[in-house]
Amino acid sequence: EVRVRFAPSPTGYLHLGGLRTALYNYLYARHLGGKFLLRIEDTDQTRLVPGATERLIEDLLWAGIEIDEGPGFPGQHGPYIQSQRTQLYSDAVARLLANGSAYRCFCTERRLELLRKEALRTRQVPRYDNKCRHLTEAQLEPLLAKNTPHCIRFKLTSHEEPLDDLIYGSVQHNVSETEGDPVIMKSDQFPTYHLANVVDDHLMGITHVLRGVEWQISTTKHLLLYNAFGWQPPQFGHLPLLVNADGTKLSKRQGDIGIQQFRERGYFPTALMNYISSAGGGFEHRPNAKPQLLSLVELAKQFRLDRVNAHPSRLNSLLLDDYNQLEITRRLSTEQSRLELVEHVQQLVKQAYPTHSHLDLAETHIVDVLNWAAERLTLLQDLTSSKLSFLWVKPSQFELRDLSVDQLQQLMQQLKDLQQFEKEQLNDTLKSYAMSKELKFPALMKTLRGALSGLKEGPGVAEMMEILGKVVVLERLEECMK
Ligand code: GLU
Repeated sequence: EVRVRFAPSPTGYLHLGGLRTALYNYLYARHLGGKFLLRIEDTDQTRLVPGATERLIEDLLWAGIEIDEGPGFPGQHGPYIQSQRTQLYSDAVARLLANGSAYRCFCTERRLELLRKEALRTRQVPRYDNKCRHLTEAQLEPLLAKNTPHCIRFKLTSHEEPLDDLIYGSVQHNVSETEGDPVIMKSDQFPTYHLANVVDDHLMGITHVLRGVEWQISTTKHLLLYNAFGWQPPQFGHLPLLVNADGTKLSKRQGDIGIQQFRERGYFPTALMNYISSAGGGFEHRPNAKPQLLSLVELAKQFRLDRVNAHPSRLNSLLLDDYNQLEITRRLSTEQSRLELVEHVQQLVKQAYPTHSHLDLAETHIVDVLNWAAERLTLLQDLTSSKLSFLWVKPSQFELRDLSVDQLQQLMQQLKDLQQFEKEQLNDTLKSYAMSKELKFPALMKTLRGALSGLKEGPGVAEMMEILGKVVVLERLEECMK
């Protein structure tokens, strides 16, 4: 059985890159009928952000990612929060000490600092010199007898550990040449990332590790750890960096923001997921084809690791709006989701006009508005923009200047008699009316726009009339005569 995991550290909010990692793990599991686990890697207690775990789970669920095992989602391999698994890491460390793959390091912070300074002075990359690797039993004994604080380091063996990356193919990093032996357990008995990650992936039966490419060098160390334990490692695939369309690092504006913010801005989860998966391959998507909205089920069906590109994944930020528009249209097409949209719009309008008591929030009106706007609307919030205020609120008292009451009444009669109250007929009516009265068409439009919306710009007048409907149009024109 395929078992994958998403293993965030609760040190902040979930961003696009993290969500992409979670999504691809999820899709991979669903494609193969496997399990998706959530594991919280909180062993660096100094970097914890209160509430981050809860928020992470909320964001994943909002995005439609179902958690098979994780905190609050019981399974055979819990607990799923690393700070609750410390005994397991201590046991693992004992094993490595016993078989000679790890050692106690008594170097003080001061000595390490001196090493760093010396490296800087001689322009070398700072690196622990593995001094304590060579302590003899006789040297160790008194230190232990005095309970001298120490950490545990893992011996990086110098042989190369080739990695057969599911996405990058064969890669090789000789870590022992470039790095000193890494700490696997700190003096406070807390494990570091490398140890906890390997122990948990093993104990939780993880078969495939899919994570960001920034972890690829760590993977070499992890493979050495698996060797030292005598465990079979999972398979590894590293996901390329998510970048802007021009190849630069994701900026705040382009998407390096918390998932929560996309949600608050009014993006639907399906839109966000299609957006993320549009970058970097993995699916049958043809590049430059018209965007097509797929459900997570459809995405999972198509997803293949060997379709993921091994170069940075470029996000086209315009696509997010396209997908959101497609999602609004999709939601309009079924009754249940249409009703939800209507409620959503009702809330948005109420929030936008907190002091108005006569908002036009009838369901039929909102559905008309949505059908009218769907083609150009990227966010539901756009419906509350000031240009469209006429949709919801009556304009305040409007003074008729270029039109006499008589003229207006005649026009209203013609409008009343119209069989169809649609843009084309309305336009014809307005034009022929202006001609018959020798009125300047633009001036007439300006007056009517003012009377109907109180605004100087917005959609065409006939279009505005169509969307407001006959009853409201006549009501608003009537008001002008008072
Ligand atoms: N805790 C690491 C992170 O924050 C996990 C990396 C991995 O998936 O191994 O991304």
